[in-house]
Amino acid sequence: MNFCGFSFDTDTRGQISRLAQSGRLPHAVIIESKSDEQAQNLAALLSAYAVCESGDRPCGECRQCKNALANAHADISYLKPDSKSKSGKYSIDQMRALAVDAQVRPNDARAKVYIFKECDKRLQEVTQNAFLKLLEEPPQQIYFFLLVKNVNALLPTIRSRCTVIRAGGEEAVSDEARESAKAIVTAMLSPREYDLLLALTAMTDKTQQAGILLAVKNHLRDALVTLSGGNADSDPELARRLASKLTRKKIIELIELNGSCDYRLKQNSNITLLTTWLCGEYRRIIWQR
Ligand SMILES: [Zn+2]
Repeated sequence: MNFCGFSFDTDTRGQISRLAQSGRLPHAVIIESKSDEQAQNLAALLSAYAVCESGDRPCGECRQCKNALANAHADISYLKPDSKSKSGKYSIDQMRALAVDAQVRPNDARAKVYIFKECDKRLQEVTQNAFLKLLEEPPQQIYFFLLVKNVNALLPTIRSRCTVIRAGGEEAVSDEARESAKAIVTAMLSPREYDLLLALTAMTDKTQQAGILLAVKNHLRDALVTLSGGNADSDPELARRLASKLTRKKIIELIELNGSCDYRLKQNSNITLLTTWLCGEYRRIIWQR
């Protein structure tokens, strides 16, 4: 995957690479990032991916890519808030106009892209509802990228129809997700499979899944730090227990497993099957000799 000169953290690069490997760019992507700049970089990269003419997308070299990366492509629109809105929001009228525009074939490229910036502020619930129909039945070769600081600012009906990519920086993890993650990691060290299965039921709450996985990963990273003689920041006691039980190789395997689980979740895998699988994989890695 060519990142066209943008620098993203390892997690973000992994998420984009997996999308590219699947060979299919989802028609609706939520880009969640604390950094507006990173979110826009990622939107520009995915836009180039959508319009690129090369076999190895995005090539970064063809005319389509260059225009996309320069934010100067006729078929890539950065939606501006409605000029009539004093508070700088997208309007329902705009969503209606967008639905009409989306039916018009691209000018130049094989696809059209619409990018919504700062959706936390600009995309109110009523406007999201107006947008929903278009999102559900998008015309061919239309892509929507929704940029948010926090994915929970969007309605569940919108979220469930989009693929979420998180770009850069640490995201906010709720206290609830933190607690669930701690219970999961503690249960990983229990010899009883049931303890882990029970702890993993917290994952059935869709709004908590990503936060839980991230918090689990942080515990595992802390264990790695502890193994290397450093100080864990969040829960040193748990990190020490993990480090005394697991080898470096196993911890890295667990972190990688977390990454592929995150990916499966975004693909809307069946959560019961997923937690059962995850439980089995965690235990296989931890208890194998
Ligand atoms: Zn290209």
